[in-house]
Amino acid sequence: MIRPILRYGESALHGRARPVTVFDDELRALLRDMAQTMYAAPGVGLAAPQVGVPLRAFVIDVTVGRRPGNLVEVVNPEFVLQEGLQMEEEGCLSLPGFNATVVRPARAIVKGQDRHGHEITFEGTDLLARALQHEMDHLDGTLFVDRLRGIKRDVIVRKVQKLRRSGKW
Ligand SMILES: [Zn+2]
Repeated sequence: MIRPILRYGESALHGRARPVTVFDDELRALLRDMAQTMYAAPGVGLAAPQVGVPLRAFVIDVTVGRRPGNLVEVVNPEFVLQEGLQMEEEGCLSLPGFNATVVRPARAIVKGQDRHGHEITFEGTDLLARALQHEMDHLDGTLFVDRLRGIKRDVIVRKVQKLRRSGKW
């Protein structure tokens, strides 16, 4: 089932998500829906708060479903390592139409749990490292625009506020 994606400004996106404690069919349905929603958008990642569920879980597929076996699902993720720096243009399904250059680690290792509660570890470089940090940020209520400084951030926030006022957001 494709779920609606919340947009910047909706409170569920801007708080800290809770750890998952129950690994049941409801969680697995959520993860399945999140992957479907991400592919339909289409996007390379989606975190549970983006569909209004304040839990620490996200999905990523840097191939956007073009190559099977690339779906990453992580529950209760934590960084084990973040190293290096990369600067690339980035967007977010909760900020449609906006992009900005964001500084991210060049390599990241995340450990967490799979849909059954088993411990898993993912290592990513380049786009996957970027996606891992982008989705981790969502679990703490941070969107890419919050990582921008000064005028770059203000321009996007003002445009979103204007869209909201005119009912186009
Ligand atoms: Zn995002």
